[in-house]
Amino acid sequence: MSGTQIHTDIDFGLAEGVQYGHLAIPYSHNLGGWANLQVPICVIRNGEGPAALVMAGNHGDEYPGQVAILRLWREVKVEDVQGTLILMPCLNPPAAKAGTRLSPLDGKNFNRCFPGDARGTVSEMLAHYLSTVLFPMVDYVVDLHTGGRSMGFLPCAHMHLVPDLVQREKMRQAAEAFLTEVTFLYADVAGAGLLPSEAERQGKIVITTELGGGELVPASVHRLCQAGLRNVLLHCGVLRGAERTRVEAGLGPARWVQALDREDYRFAPESGLYENCVDLGEVVKKGDLLGLVHSLEVPGREAAKVVANKHGVLVANRGPSLVGQGDCVACVAGVVDWANTM
Ligand SMILES: [Zn+2]
Repeated sequence: MSGTQIHTDIDFGLAEGVQYGHLAIPYSHNLGGWANLQVPICVIRNGEGPAALVMAGNHGDEYPGQVAILRLWREVKVEDVQGTLILMPCLNPPAAKAGTRLSPLDGKNFNRCFPGDARGTVSEMLAHYLSTVLFPMVDYVVDLHTGGRSMGFLPCAHMHLVPDLVQREKMRQAAEAFLTEVTFLYADVAGAGLLPSEAERQGKIVITTELGGGELVPASVHRLCQAGLRNVLLHCGVLRGAERTRVEAGLGPARWVQALDREDYRFAPESGLYENCVDLGEVVKKGDLLGLVHSLEVPGREAAKVVANKHGVLVANRGPSLVGQGDCVACVAGVVDWANTM
């Protein structure tokens, strides 16, 4: 199938019930010439219905989604499902175990490897398998992220502004079902080859998140991730039951913000110690100071300023104080006018 070198014992056909297994990706290391990286996968199928692929650990150092899917792995019963639910709690186990964004096996950012390569590195082979085997099987693709160790995010569901208006509207409704306080339209300012971009290109309803960031995950973020994911799966109809509306959850209408222009993303002008001068969620005006880069080598020199290029809310900021020239340090998002966007 599709030239893949990945092996699995999972039957993706019409087998009913629960199957637990792995995707086995061949690779070599110095103490294992014929090794296979084992990526866990669970398929729960119960009759006809929608199909959803739910993933986390695309970046190893982003854990709330991995925890939420591990919980579903143990908690969801066949009778809870209608259709097919595929769970992949950790797409990149070596990175998750090392606490890194990039794969220690090939140095790749998995979220820049799509559509992948059947004869490429471990990350490229898995990206190819998702693109050619798993995405075509499903209607919904869920990929849970945080800012990892490098960025903090106002916890949000987010999406690309896909060109197909029917797909866009379904994605908007699905993102709102995550019940985050803010929902975010984003653009790719750091390269192509993203997992959601490939799934969107195939017409899938794609639901993604940025649930905080940093190494400490507050209990509130775990709760938000777990409740939001379940509600999205109820919304999709893959889990049986009624989804909770924002009103039932005690929330107001979804608050959408967007950062679709490159100037909305701010980068460190030089290396040094970065001082966040605004907190996540604060409203800023064009020209407002967002952060300062202090030089360790020339202490007496004035710090380099990073300012907002527009009016909006700070949705992402810098994690580590140590910053390198060109690192993304802030993202300012303005209010979405859906009437004009659609
Ligand atoms: Zn990520």
